[in-house]
Amino acid sequence: MGEIALELVKDHKPIPADDALGFGKVFTDHMFVMDYEEGKGWINPRIVPFSSVTMSTAAAVLHYGQAIFEGIKAFRTKDGQVAIYRALDHLKRLNNSAKYVCIPEMDVDILHKGLKKLIEVEKNWVPKSKGTSLYIRPFVFATESYLGVKVAGKYSCYIILSPVGSYYSAGFSPIRIKVEDYYVRAIKGGLGEAKTSSNYAASLAASNQAQKEGFTQVLWLDGVEKKYVEEVGTMNIFFVIGDELVTPALNGSFLNGITRQSILKLAPTLGLKAVERRIPIEELFEAHAKGELKEVFGSGTAAVISPVGELSYKGKNIVINDNKVGPVAQLLFDQITGIQQGLVEDKFNWLDFI
Ligand SMILES: *Cc1c(COP(=O)(O)O)cnc(C)c1O
Repeated sequence: MGEIALELVKDHKPIPADDALGFGKVFTDHMFVMDYEEGKGWINPRIVPFSSVTMSTAAAVLHYGQAIFEGIKAFRTKDGQVAIYRALDHLKRLNNSAKYVCIPEMDVDILHKGLKKLIEVEKNWVPKSKGTSLYIRPFVFATESYLGVKVAGKYSCYIILSPVGSYYSAGFSPIRIKVEDYYVRAIKGGLGEAKTSSNYAASLAASNQAQKEGFTQVLWLDGVEKKYVEEVGTMNIFFVIGDELVTPALNGSFLNGITRQSILKLAPTLGLKAVERRIPIEELFEAHAKGELKEVFGSGTAAVISPVGELSYKGKNIVINDNKVGPVAQLLFDQITGIQQGLVEDKFNWLDFI
């Protein structure tokens, strides 16, 4: 596979003002695309004007859901440079997700090169205000026109970009969470550890129901015993119990978040003792009764850290840390966003400067 072809737009779209940004509704002028055909492999990597997708109405993805994606962010640093956060790690995870739904492996170096080139072309779209970023959405889906159930023989891979506003424009405020004891998100041996579209489809009914009951999201328990904590909504979850920072150990049924990995790597450098283990839901309620459950927060690319103020399980409600943001959540949020903005030293080389 050779160079990445470049076709630029003639007319640029207006770039929205930073204070008018929401999430994922406005897209930049260009996108990265490449195609896969059986026998040829991944071909024709290119940067072209943003457009709609044209494919057969019988395309496999529309019927059997072979589709994966990633969510990455690029930031404007304090000195005006543009930095992508942990791009290579996200792109490697895209390839890992691909395996779970039999999407053919991609060349991560081509994807990485294509992404950096695309960001270079769209540099002006990276917003500058605190908390804003350029959201990067790589995704891959089956395009073969055939109604038989099989591994498709044709795919497309895209990367699109959307300038997004601050997740915390209304302030950093704790959320109410329902511990889900009926619906199941994913199980070990299934797609739990992949970023597939179908995981999201499978999560909608539970979160919809929780929202009707006044909660922000659900806390997922393991799909077999409904006893152990797994994730919160589409984020990983952390607890401060006593003097330990605790998160569920990977077991194949939930995603190994890049933000989760960042927290585990940073923790010892910040004097925090991080532990990965199985966490029974009952233990959290017992720790709370003893005054040992100090903080609960989610982690993910969109929010970085999302403090949980209340947990509700089978009708029992507990309030965490007086419904306030705890010191560990605040410290980790400040460190990660600090690295992203070039305010804190990037000790682990997580940034790609464009
Ligand atoms: C994307 C995602 C996360 C968070 O992963 P990050 O890499 O930190 O953004 C957690 N759980 C699920 C199910 C996800 O899809």
